[in-house]
Formats: sequence, C-alpha cells, structure tokens
Amino acid sequence: MNAINTEKIVYHIKYERIKNVYIQIKNGEVIVKAPRYISKKYIDKIVEEKKNWILKKLEETRNIEPEREYTNQDAIKLKDKLDSIFPELIQKTKLVPNKIRIRNIKYAWGSCSSNKNITINLKLVDKSDEEIKYVVLHELCHLKYMNHSNEFWNLVGKYMPNYKEVRKKLKYNS
Ligand SMILES: [Zn+2]
Repeated sequence: MNAINTEKIVYHIKYERIKNVYIQIKNGEVIVKAPRYISKKYIDKIVEEKKNWILKKLEETRNIEPEREYTNQDAIKLKDKLDSIFPELIQKTKLVPNKIRIRNIKYAWGSCSSNKNITINLKLVDKSDEEIKYVVLHELCHLKYMNHSNEFWNLVGKYMPNYKEVRKKLKYNS
C-alpha cells in the first residue's frame, strides 16, 4: 500500500484485480481500491469528488464510544458468576482446569494454556449468562482438544446444542 497525501484527505491505495475504483473507510483510514492501470491523478480526482462523503464517514467512526473502564467490582461480579458456572460444567464434562483466571484481554473471550490454565476475559461481565457459559465450556473443551477440530466442536455441541447461535452473538474467534 502506498500512502499518499492530497490537500486534505490522506488515503492509501490498494491495487486489486477489479474493474472500478472503490473507497472504503476502515479503522479510521481511507482506503482506495483500484485497478492497477488507474493513474494516481485520476484517483485524486475521485477522492476530491467524494470528499464530503469521506469526511462524513470519518467523523462517524470517530464518534464511536470508547471502550468502558473495567473495575474491581466487575471482576468480583464475574467471579461470582464463574463460581457457579465452572463447577456445573466441570461436573458435566469431567474436564478439570488447573487454574482459572480473570483478565482484561484484548483479542479473545477466553484462552486455555497447555498447563490447563484457563483465562476468562473480564469484558464478559457485560454479557449474558448463556454467553459466559459458552466461553467457559469452549475453554474446558480445549482441555481435551487443543484445537478447533470436528471432535472439539462435537464435544462443545454435546453440552450446549445451540452453541452456534451463542458463538455468533459473541463473535467468538478463539
Ligand atoms: Zn478455542
């Protein structure tokens, strides 16, 4: 990607095998997707024409609320919930973790290490009991399968038949 400056709008060009020019706003950045044969001059012209739209979109992304602060109270509240969810699921699955921790992590709702330590994301305090249950179950099943194989998903489904819906709600990616 090349970074280019026009008078006001900074944008990046991404050349692709496409026929038209597309403008995209992603993470507060302006990305212009264009076919390779399009000149920079032409792209400048399009960006200039779409300036109002781009500025409006940039403004919208800036107005997104920042992530809230999590406190000790949140940790206590989540721990309370986990104190009933874990024993219930451990009893059902017979899968026993070594340690359970609560952390404010960035990219996952939970994680499971090879030492059988499970970490649960503090941000789950804002989610429903069903969603928290799903994350706990997901991580417990990793004690048996350290991957996302069919066997893993079968095991999750055995204890939570509607896990696909819950997973979708959470946008789970680990
Ligand atoms: Zn996983």
